Amino acid sequence: MEFKISDKMRNMKPSIIREILKQMSDPTLISFAGGNPAADSFPAEDIARFSDELLRQDPVAALQYSVSEGVPSVREAVRAFANRRERVAKENDGVLITSGSQQILDFAAKCLCNEGDVVAVENPAFLGAFNAFRSSGARLAGVPMEDDGVNLAALEAVFAAPEKPRFFYCIPNFQNPTGKTMSLAKRRAVYALAVRYGVPVLEDDPYGELRIAGGPVPSIKSMDTEGAVIYAGSFSKILCPGMRLAYCVCDKKLMAAFVVAKQCSDVHTNVWAQRVCEAMLTRTDMDAHIREIRKIYAAKAALMMEQLDEKCPQVRYTRPEGGMFIWGTLPEGADMPAFVRECLARKLALVPGNAFMVDEEAPCGSFRMNFSTPTPENIVKGVSVMAGVLAAQGL
Ligand code: PMP
Repeated sequence: MEFKISDKMRNMKPSIIREILKQMSDPTLISFAGGNPAADSFPAEDIARFSDELLRQDPVAALQYSVSEGVPSVREAVRAFANRRERVAKENDGVLITSGSQQILDFAAKCLCNEGDVVAVENPAFLGAFNAFRSSGARLAGVPMEDDGVNLAALEAVFAAPEKPRFFYCIPNFQNPTGKTMSLAKRRAVYALAVRYGVPVLEDDPYGELRIAGGPVPSIKSMDTEGAVIYAGSFSKILCPGMRLAYCVCDKKLMAAFVVAKQCSDVHTNVWAQRVCEAMLTRTDMDAHIREIRKIYAAKAALMMEQLDEKCPQVRYTRPEGGMFIWGTLPEGADMPAFVRECLARKLALVPGNAFMVDEEAPCGSFRMNFSTPTPENIVKGVSVMAGVLAAQGL
């Protein structure tokens, strides 16, 4: 059969990272390329215990169809969790339980964009978001990143352009891929611009709980008095990604459209997983669990930075205050793709920085390193590989 793939999907490229990860079946390959949480952080015992209890005591509650918004008691538990330190969900906000936060990114574009509409995005930013937006026919307007978040003048220029963006996508905490955190002053300024120009903000925050240094910075959503911010939280990095659990907090009027999108997409999020998550939130000490994850990541990030300082002083890099990523930049004039290629030939996978750029063809001297997945031993070995390649390439 000759399949005629839609124009929409034909132009989409498979994720470069997923392609790199395909090579991961090679056990000798060290990967700084993925974005997987550390497997030793998964609360497998608790998940098994609650799942078993649920299936024995109330199987229908785990196995029957449910409502598209998410199981009501789960939504309540998630609302309380999201609001435990700051007010993320306000009175006019709804909470929607989704199949990963990837689904929120998809719904945002599906519900807010017509074919050809502009979406403003941090540049670089999460490739999966770009692809979700593009699959809804959106065109991306990249706003350059600075050390403390987006360039505000560039953001305002994009907001003021004749084709006003349908929303602005940002990752204020420990951004993927750069590891950068948006300052409080910039969060306030972004919110003010959003309200002034009538451009909603999609605040993607899968890493916010994973702070390893510095003090917490309020979310943009916590400043939101106008229903201008769509907040995406995820359990992928604090429970496990395989359960595909995330939550969207946004104004109820917009949520009504998201619920229709949910019905079209997968009816509702896996009820079994939702119930297990509810038990995790209400019957375990999630904050203690999150503290443990932070400890693991703080140690790994410190090791990677120490190794980089010692063996690759010519690589400039961001010192992340949390999350999973370090963004490295080669000396001026270096051939980044050749560097990444040679590292891969020597069995170290990195992600070339242009994979996260709106314009993948533009010259880019940076690359992304992940510290959450590799073992400490492999962090040490991987940075040695980088040092060897830098020396071989005369950098
Ligand atoms: N947003 C960002 C910034 C991400 O890095 C990821 C994946 N790592 C996601 C969203 C999607 O995560 P999930 O669907 O597992 O919640």
